[in-house]
Amino acid sequence: MQPVNDILMQIENEIADYKSIKLSKKETGRPVIGWLPTDVPEELIHGAGALPVGIVNTGKNGDLGSSFIPDYICSMVKGALDVALSGKLNFLDGLIIPHVCDSLSQLSGVWNNHAPLPYIRGMLFPVQYTSKSANKFFKNELEDLKLSLKESFDLQTTNDNLMASIELYNSNRQLLREILLLRLSNHGILGNKNYYRVIMSSMLMPKERNNELLADLITAMKNEVETNAPAYQNKKTMFVSGMYYADSGLFDLLDELGIIVVGDDLSVGERYFAVDADLAPGNDPLNALVSRQMQNIPYAGYEQGTDRGSFLTGLMRERQAQGIIFLHLKFCEQENFDYPLLKKAMDELKIPNLRLEISYPLSLGMVRNRLEAMLEIMEGI
Ligand code: SF4
Repeated sequence: MQPVNDILMQIENEIADYKSIKLSKKETGRPVIGWLPTDVPEELIHGAGALPVGIVNTGKNGDLGSSFIPDYICSMVKGALDVALSGKLNFLDGLIIPHVCDSLSQLSGVWNNHAPLPYIRGMLFPVQYTSKSANKFFKNELEDLKLSLKESFDLQTTNDNLMASIELYNSNRQLLREILLLRLSNHGILGNKNYYRVIMSSMLMPKERNNELLADLITAMKNEVETNAPAYQNKKTMFVSGMYYADSGLFDLLDELGIIVVGDDLSVGERYFAVDADLAPGNDPLNALVSRQMQNIPYAGYEQGTDRGSFLTGLMRERQAQGIIFLHLKFCEQENFDYPLLKKAMDELKIPNLRLEISYPLSLGMVRNRLEAMLEIMEGI
């Protein structure tokens, strides 16, 4: 049996420079369609016969993106454009940009001008989930996306293909949830850095291959727990809230400080795999994707009829998190608007909380000082 570290190295090897997705394109001749966070329904791209890939590892960017994007735009948007301008995304045949904030809504035009692709599509999402037309609106968006993939790439999506893709993606989500549960009952079995790299890998490689590697990883983790269980305890438990992380520096630092992240609501974290699309008999696959969207973990950009503060404190209680880090990208209006209410919810329950307003590339010196100060406060509680 392969040890955990060997499988992690294999995953790193296959996601480096999008190796695995490029290989799949070469072998199958399928077009590769990139997506930016958050909420682009990859199942629809996969069901049409294309290869979806997340443009999510954009933390070590240079300055190219800044040449075309103003300073007051978050570094996720700048980083993504930067990667495209560097030529590393030349293997893409298309890109879907979710219009979930003003910055992303403006990006399609800039991308088209400076890093053109045969297909760039903005995608809309219901913002008011409580509105009666929200489900219908989103289903229409899914129909439009399906149609545009057909017209642009001559890709036909049948119901059977879409159901098979949803099943594949549900399996991936279930595997990620199993890894999460193993971590929760054995703190430290997979450190924060490795855990978030594993989640990221599922966005960066073909799901079929990712599922194989995740299944191997689970077997290896279970074996390691059986032989080393006592070593995986005594960590400070922390929750992380926000939208995005781009590189592993922060999680590496949390590992070093003896903190274990026991939950998050990140769009490229737990929110990516928390909820399946329900394939109950007779359920239309597009309706299944609509329901998944509506039931997912609350996100700052939407009014979901859920009090996000109560949601977070409830989940933190369940996971026995001792504190929370708000990981916010600088200039992210969505998180800026929610933050006062979220802080109030934490303060009322006297939950230690720290807001890190960050940009990529990440400078860790200041972050370390603030985390160490938070840990000292937590020691005194
Ligand atoms: S981090 Fe905020 S501002 Fe940046 S793309 Fe996401 S939602 Fe938009």
